[in-house]
Amino acid sequence: MMRRTKIVATMGPATDDPKVLDKLIEAQVDVVRLNFSHDTPEKHKERAEAARERASAHGRPIGVIADLQGPKIRIGKFNDEANHIKKKIFLEEGDKFILDMEHPEDSGNQERVGVTYKQLAEDVDRGATLLLDDGRVVLWVEQVEGPEIICRVVVGGELSNSKGINRQGGGLSAKALTDKDRADMKVVAEIEADYVAISFPRSAEDIHEARKLLRDAGSEAGIIAKIERAEAVNNIEEIIEASDAIMVARGDLGVEIGDAAVPPIQKKMIRMARDMNRIVITATQMMESMIENAIPTRAEVSDVANAVIDGTDAVMLSAETAAGRHPVAAVSAMDRVCKVAEQTREVTHSEHRVDEPFSRIDEAIAMATMYSANHLPVKAIASLTESGSTALWMSRISSGVPIYALTPLVATRRKVTLYRGVYPVNFTPPSSDPVEVLQEAVDELRRRSAVRDGDIVVLTIGEPLSKPGGTNTMKIVRVGDLHED
Ligand code: PGA
Ligand code: MN
Repeated sequence: MMRRTKIVATMGPATDDPKVLDKLIEAQVDVVRLNFSHDTPEKHKERAEAARERASAHGRPIGVIADLQGPKIRIGKFNDEANHIKKKIFLEEGDKFILDMEHPEDSGNQERVGVTYKQLAEDVDRGATLLLDDGRVVLWVEQVEGPEIICRVVVGGELSNSKGINRQGGGLSAKALTDKDRADMKVVAEIEADYVAISFPRSAEDIHEARKLLRDAGSEAGIIAKIERAEAVNNIEEIIEASDAIMVARGDLGVEIGDAAVPPIQKKMIRMARDMNRIVITATQMMESMIENAIPTRAEVSDVANAVIDGTDAVMLSAETAAGRHPVAAVSAMDRVCKVAEQTREVTHSEHRVDEPFSRIDEAIAMATMYSANHLPVKAIASLTESGSTALWMSRISSGVPIYALTPLVATRRKVTLYRGVYPVNFTPPSSDPVEVLQEAVDELRRRSAVRDGDIVVLTIGEPLSKPGGTNTMKIVRVGDLHED
């Protein structure tokens, strides 16, 4: 049985062992994520190459996401003079603690620490709540005096080097794209990443700017907007519209808007992305306990299954694969949970778009195909595609029928690795005669054991061939009968 939901695995020290990487690919990882908050450009290049090389040894493409760091605001470091001074501090409830914009970034102490974002003092006022280390330490702002944010500790705890700072409710002015992100876009172009994830966007404008910068850098990557700021939730529709995909980035999002607000918003975002013909990835802590343990918790299993039932395209692993003790088991666990969740009826059937007008001919063909596939005993759908857009539309409709995207273009094969229920196939049309091309497409599916004689296949094609966005024909055939047609 083929899994429809795609698995994204973050690469890191734990996947650098070639044996581990090989096993991840065998365990059917669809897409790898390079986390630009860590490591060097050289390391990212190496990892992308290794993943593609191993995937191609197993006869399939793999997608690559470059996840840019964005304006993650962090405290500075605590000093380490003579290696004797402790690198962490402990804050007690009621303590006074100062975030000092002018304090050196590498010499924090029990009273104060520097901050990587110098405008922070201008962005907060008395009464603001600042969450450090994903909310493990909570500070209440008593007063802002020039470069000093004077805080009272509301929830105490340990604080070590470079922990993140979020403001409850959002409202920080930091721009989505930092100088580092701009520089990293050149690396993204060199790597030929299939997708770039933009961290902390606030609006569609941030996404438009990112797209322009990326194209200027020579990258054709699709853009994933990470929804992890309160402002992004408020502007969700325009952000989805401007992006190719969104990521429900539950880590930072949960800190800004509160953990309890995340699940309903996750459901809403998955529905909206699908309705707007966009891809959606559900991310963060999905199998968190597997960083240490060989099996997931029941709660984690349930979380992954529910994201699948809600219609997510992909589920993502972060530290579980990048730095965990059981990267391969984490992928296998997700694989197993997705496959069972995909059997539920709400996932295999659809009443979606029955009453909606379509704006394009290829979209109408895609919808007609899915309607037929869900009402006839169809074994497979084959979409001959240049840009992958027909396959994208098809994949927005719930169905249990696999959608094969047949294309000679490697960039398109890699892009569709994120689309739920879509499987890329390397296919070069043997001629310009549609009858011959369709026959060869069915033969290709037969060679892959995707279909056998007697099975019904729905094919889509554009006539004349090889025009992007030109799909205008649907044909339903019984395998083995095509020659006699
Ligand atoms: P990150 O994004 O892992 O890059 O921080 C995901 C999240 O915030 O959930
Ligand atoms: Mn984040």
